[in-house]
Amino acid sequence: MHFREEPVTPVYRHWMCEQVDCNGELLSTGEGITRLSTRWKHRCGKCGHEDWADATYPRVAYLPIDAIGPDDSYT
Ligand SMILES: [Zn+2]
Repeated sequence: MHFREEPVTPVYRHWMCEQVDCNGELLSTGEGITRLSTRWKHRCGKCGHEDWADATYPRVAYLPIDAIGPDDSYT
């Protein structure tokens, strides 16, 4: 086997509510629906807005070091 390795850094990724002026966080309700793939229900802890994602949030994600900007932002 031949490997190429590079450092990554873990981030704790929060799904922020996109409702205007909310700034709440969408949290997994634990409720999932499976059709072609599983979708997980999330609800904003602040305004109650509900949305679906193909993963549960918050979650740990691993990013290449290069992806982290000097102000801790990432793409
Ligand atoms: Zn909200």
